Amino acid sequence: MLRRLPVYILLDCSESMVGEGLAAARRGIGNILSRLGTNPQALETVHISIIGFAGKAKVLLPLTALPDATMPPIRLGNGTALGAALELLAARIRDEVSRRDKTQRGDWRPIVILLADGKPTDDLEKSLKVYKSTVGDLVANFYVVGCGEDADLRSLAKVSDILLKAESMEAGVLDRLFFWMSETLTEASRSQDDKGGRTMLESLPVGVTMVDAKHLPDKSAVGDFYLRAVCGVKNRPFIMHFRWDEAGETFRAHRSHPLGQDDIEPDQEGGAGESVDISIVSSPPACPYCGTDQYVICGPDCGTISCAGGVVRGPEGPSHRCPKCEVQFSLAKGAGATSLRVRRG
Ligand SMILES: [Zn+2]
Ligand SMILES: [Zn+2]
Repeated sequence: MLRRLPVYILLDCSESMVGEGLAAARRGIGNILSRLGTNPQALETVHISIIGFAGKAKVLLPLTALPDATMPPIRLGNGTALGAALELLAARIRDEVSRRDKTQRGDWRPIVILLADGKPTDDLEKSLKVYKSTVGDLVANFYVVGCGEDADLRSLAKVSDILLKAESMEAGVLDRLFFWMSETLTEASRSQDDKGGRTMLESLPVGVTMVDAKHLPDKSAVGDFYLRAVCGVKNRPFIMHFRWDEAGETFRAHRSHPLGQDDIEPDQEGGAGESVDISIVSSPPACPYCGTDQYVICGPDCGTISCAGGVVRGPEGPSHRCPKCEVQFSLAKGAGATSLRVRRG
């Protein structure tokens, strides 16, 4: 039987991937599948699986021979369940990869590539124990790539000693990173041995560097935060992106990203978040659909943030209809909130 080279790609699908990150990830995965398919050796041996993680971890593509692999939908959710992703990876490798023993040669040792751009929101230590004790010895190369300024390199360094950093989430950097991944996998398909694959790090792409785990920053920066909102006029969703301003000790508007129908994982609406005092949030970014920068928060049960573009001024003062729960409420009574459920993706 032909020995397979199993490749697992773990992809952070948290809200912080919104915009260029998500577009580059979709383009990059598509390119990996098509580029590997043009190499006869890779085409014969590489089997690929994609696991996405946000609030939960999910198999987007089970281990599949390259000619049969199709681009899975990649959608965003809340949170960064890196621990859950590692446990799912361990379970899949246990089920899908055949080990070498006295009677069979088994598959080649798997290669794992993890892309993460934030801070884990679940119990990484616990999950790492599970991963290491079950399949940790089997995995040949585990490439971990922290993407952008907010990647928590201290946590990622615990996952593997092959730690890379992509300096930004810009399309150019991520495109080069995915190109490098497909080159690395093509090379790995040519040069497998039972001791494990080589680490192909001689030629890292521009904007990507090797990180020395012994020299990490003492503490990670205050991460950006993201708020889901809906346009009150057009009833279409978007994500507001705020950046921490160290000098002003405030989160400042960065920009808003409109969300398409296919950009959000439907079962991950709402979800776990942390409360952030909105008094440290300066003015929010404008609604990408109607341009207003005024917002209304629906009551505690609904909690939907919508732009105030659709506020109607009647004889009893301004009123607003929540696009989510459709409750019409008066703004004259002073509807407001002092804290918001905020997700750091
Ligand atoms: Zn709007
Ligand atoms: Zn509502």
